Order: sequence, then structure tokens, then C-alpha cells
Amino acid sequence: MTFLARFNSPCADRSCDEPIERGDIVEYVDDELVHEGCRPTPPRPPRPVCHVCFIEIAPNGACGCGVLA
Ligand SMILES: [Zn+2]
Ligand SMILES: [Zn+2]
Repeated sequence: MTFLARFNSPCADRSCDEPIERGDIVEYVDDELVHEGCRPTPPRPPRPVCHVCFIEIAPNGACGCGVLA
């Protein structure tokens, strides 16, 4: 359901460059405030963490400390 924004806020759609401004038509999707027609960007899934240095492992599977996942 859409309504008029009553305050300025970032749009939860991270591909959307426009901030939400007072008076814009907005709606809540999954409890996130977005412009009408925008959809919230899902949170990034957690990456595996290196068991040696506890830093997130890069998508190629190699950790900066030299240990392979
Ligand atoms: Zn938007
Ligand atoms: Zn590591």
C-alpha cells in the first residue's frame, strides 16, 4: 500500500539513486521503505569466514592469509 512520505529517508532499493523526500509516493516492502515501484535490495548472504584469520573469504575461495577454504 502506498502513502506519501512524511520525512526524508534513503530508499531501501540500493539500485535506486533517488532519496525518498517528503511528499514522494512510497510504500513498505518487507518492512523497508522504498519508492513506489522500487524493491528493497536483499541483504548480502554471509560469506564463509577463514578458520585461521576469521576474515571473510573472497568469492574465489582464497583468503588473504594464504589458507584455502
Ligand atoms: Zn527508490
Ligand atoms: Zn585467512
